[in-house]
Amino acid sequence: MVTIKAENMTAFVSDIFAKAGTSRAEADRIGKYLVIANLTGHDSHGVQRVPRYVQWLQEGVFLADRVVNIVNETPVYAVVDGLHGFGQTVAPQAVEIGLAKCRAMGLSMVALRNAGHIGRVGDYAETAAAAGFVSVHFVNAFGSSLVAPFGGVDRRFSTAPYCVGVPRPGEPPLILDFATSIVAEGKVLNASFGGKKIPADALVDSKGKLSQDPHVLYGDYEPSGPRDYRKGDGAIRAFGDHKGSGLALMCELLGGSLTGNGATEEGKRFANGMLSFYVDPAKIDPDGFFPADVTKYTKHVKSSRPIVPGVEVLVPGEPELRMRAERGKNGLPLPDDTWAAIVATAKSLGLDDARVAKAMA
Ligand code: NAD
Repeated sequence: MVTIKAENMTAFVSDIFAKAGTSRAEADRIGKYLVIANLTGHDSHGVQRVPRYVQWLQEGVFLADRVVNIVNETPVYAVVDGLHGFGQTVAPQAVEIGLAKCRAMGLSMVALRNAGHIGRVGDYAETAAAAGFVSVHFVNAFGSSLVAPFGGVDRRFSTAPYCVGVPRPGEPPLILDFATSIVAEGKVLNASFGGKKIPADALVDSKGKLSQDPHVLYGDYEPSGPRDYRKGDGAIRAFGDHKGSGLALMCELLGGSLTGNGATEEGKRFANGMLSFYVDPAKIDPDGFFPADVTKYTKHVKSSRPIVPGVEVLVPGEPELRMRAERGKNGLPLPDDTWAAIVATAKSLGLDDARVAKAMA
């Protein structure tokens, strides 16, 4: 395990993407969002993605420095084409369009299609909450069929995340943000590099046997080599039995079909689709009932007696906040194989030992 300071890692990732051919502004954004994922404890969506992002940039799966195209719009909604730009570039542009419309109308919807990997969806709910808005996001990942539906063995869904953000006066927002699979694919990726093990029933092999072995998803791989989920013949399982599987289906139909991104099909170019709704509580609730009730009710929920004495009840967003404080202070822990893969990518682009050493300082 190596530990890298968050600010060093942000700068290192930025240098990698600047070398790989993005503008410095885009490289900085990719570095920022990937490192926030690690800081908030979502290593699955953090810097371990660097080798795959670089590979996808080189293969033309993602394109550098895209400006979104508005396909059609009214004052309350917009259909936005990300044109296969980096998710860290085109998703914030789509969010800004949604926020501007919500500011004017009190309510808005943005259907984003053809985005590169948008990473941790909670980032966008946090942006909306910082503007004072509630937001709801249904997301799918076209071209990345990884998840078996309830009762099935074969892959049909992407890990299709769902996210809701609720601002709170004077306090950090509530951010509910999860994949509709038992684990996000990145958590299997992370486990395959020696990171935290995934739950024993998170995967199902091609014969229907439950498993936690990443080989079920990736087939054979070298320890620090690339992982390719097309090589395995098993699947990740949808969370929450029929209920989670049903939510995954809705993420595919709303984040995929309704945005024009397409509900997930395997063997196609990767693209995230995201259907986002924004609500301005100040407009629909001028008496201010909502913020006070959120504060009161959140307190009530947290006051539930803990099952394990001393282990407090948390609300969505709290684990990430705590992790952010801890890792901001102590640095980002990375499995050796993850770090080796990032360094190999950096060197393949011409960054030298001195630059690697600077990142580790
Ligand atoms: P997860 O299982 O860690 O769940 C995270 C959510 O649960 C957060 O809202 C968190 O605050 C809440 N939570 C965790 N522990 C809690 C506790 N003890 N009490 C109360 N709430 C608690 O998340 P995941 O499914 O592994 O997803 C990880 C990330 O992956 C998310 O940010 C998601 O957006 C992202 N993702 C992205 C894509 C994509 O295609 N871009 C696909 C899948 C997942």
